[in-house]
Amino acid sequence: MNKIVFATGNQHKVEEINRINRRIQFLSLHDVDINEEIPETGSSFAENAYQKASYVFNKTKLPVLAEDSGLIVDALDGRPGIYSARYAGLQKNHQDNIAKVLHEMKGIADRRAKFISCLCFIDNTGQSSYFEGFCHGFLFTQPLGNGGFGYDPIFIPNGYDKSFGELPNEIKDKISHRSKSFEIFSNFLKENFK
Ligand code: IMP
Repeated sequence: MNKIVFATGNQHKVEEINRINRRIQFLSLHDVDINEEIPETGSSFAENAYQKASYVFNKTKLPVLAEDSGLIVDALDGRPGIYSARYAGLQKNHQDNIAKVLHEMKGIADRRAKFISCLCFIDNTGQSSYFEGFCHGFLFTQPLGNGGFGYDPIFIPNGYDKSFGELPNEIKDKISHRSKSFEIFSNFLKENFK
């Protein structure tokens, strides 16, 4: 298998995945003529990933990979969680989302947080499989750097003293939630689809 549809409209994710992996060619939604927004109404990362993957599979009958990812903050009872992209509203603006999280974290000493990446893969027979990766760290009190996307400028991964907004791509690509879920997925593909 060397062509898989990657069911995301997020160009940053496509870039990250193509940097992490060079064996499989990922087609974008645009490549398979899906231009509408795919509904995302599940109550967990896995449900949302399945919802996106099955929507695309039903339309194309091609193997599909979908990801639902987000930031989980311990002191906020796991928020923003599945609402990470639209935490401050449907405009899905990263700066607004960061401002809302920093506001809610004002004066809170426990800054622990993690990113999660949950992948759902549907193969050409319609069978689904799931793969998860985490990246643990903590939240700084203000944005640092302007690399990456989303919450990267306020997230400092454990073992580092710079945010994902400041660290080079090569480091994020080695330790991120997405690189971990993806590695497990790549091994699954190697074992099951030779
Ligand atoms: P999704 O497209 O529904 O998976 O939305 C994921 C949201 O979680 C993104 O819009 C970001 O706000 C956040 N997120 C996920 N992965 C990352 C990351 O690697 N860095 C920063 N923010 C992320």
